[in-house]
Amino acid sequence: MAKRDYYEVLEVSKSASADEIKKAYRKLAIKYHPDKNPDNPSAEEKFKEAAEAYEVLSTPEKRQRYDQYGHQAAGGGYGGGGMNMDDIFSQFGDVFGGGSPFESFFGGGGGRGRGVRKGSNLRIKLKLNLEEIANGCEKKIKVKRQVACDECSGTGAKNGAVQKCTTCNGTGQVKKVVNTMLGQMMSATTCSTCNGEGTTVKDKCTHCHGHGTVEKEETITIKIPAGVVDGMQLSMSGKGNMPPRGGVAGDLLILIEEIEDEQLKRDGLNIIYELYVTFFDAVFGTSVEVPTVDGKVKIKIDPGTQSGKILRLRSKGLKDVNSYQKGDQLIYVNVWTPQTLSKEEKELLASIKESDNFKPNPGKNDKSFFERMKEFF
Ligand SMILES: [Zn+2]
Ligand SMILES: [Zn+2]
Repeated sequence: MAKRDYYEVLEVSKSASADEIKKAYRKLAIKYHPDKNPDNPSAEEKFKEAAEAYEVLSTPEKRQRYDQYGHQAAGGGYGGGGMNMDDIFSQFGDVFGGGSPFESFFGGGGGRGRGVRKGSNLRIKLKLNLEEIANGCEKKIKVKRQVACDECSGTGAKNGAVQKCTTCNGTGQVKKVVNTMLGQMMSATTCSTCNGEGTTVKDKCTHCHGHGTVEKEETITIKIPAGVVDGMQLSMSGKGNMPPRGGVAGDLLILIEEIEDEQLKRDGLNIIYELYVTFFDAVFGTSVEVPTVDGKVKIKIDPGTQSGKILRLRSKGLKDVNSYQKGDQLIYVNVWTPQTLSKEEKELLASIKESDNFKPNPGKNDKSFFERMKEFF
């Protein structure tokens, strides 16, 4: 069947304003709403047709394309397939606005029926040192959370005896006819007798006082993957609070705090370590132990090493939490220049200070600072 002209569908002129289009659509949406026309396929068709026309004509770019090129060009996300009911209902918040009688009539802006209730989330901060971050770890922490009451199986009723709510017959919603400027219609609101729960409790459970939940301290084991970053949030689903009288527990959200290491500084996936060696070790060469996230590692300092040299320990950095990538440890070599000297030391150094060997003479084998930086970053 060929599509009707969108303006014709909404019964507005081609020059209709956005407001006129919205009003026209509202009228049709109410007239053909499925709740008002049960088992009437032609009304449902008209309802969908109006929604599609509104979808296009209420979006300036789509309307312009439609005016120029017709149905094919205006399709947007709904193309030839038309809109489904969920698309249509999700549009209603916009069309009818919040707080109007239509909101409950249309099931609260798209969400139809009662969803599963979810309890609140719990938040904790977890401090980790660099070693724990580098290797990943398991942490046992104590949390106080709301769990389902054992006595009443989380129902809040003595011996778990709940009755179907007689006001709403267990549906959690009551329908009533409301008068609006556009005529009478059915409105569904949350049942006030049972607060939408669909059940009522005659005798409250004495253990949880009818809440259905009790506070419990639990020890939870948290597995922290290697490579987490300060400020990162991990979540364990179902380890938060249980909502009152049934539903699913919220989540436990774990905020990572990194304890700064005294010696090893983090630079993304790389670890930076500043090493100081004596003038003599730089001259004669030596081997020294340096700390890494995997423990101590022995490294060689070549004879004649200049201050500012950068050594790389491959794959001794941090693992990327989302990939197999691993950083390196970079060691900045500083040659310690003595700041105080005894009289004898001064005389000794003065006696050799004129030697040409002590004069700076960087050759082509000595990389410049910029070359060194480029090589490593
Ligand atoms: Zn009820
Ligand atoms: Zn209880």
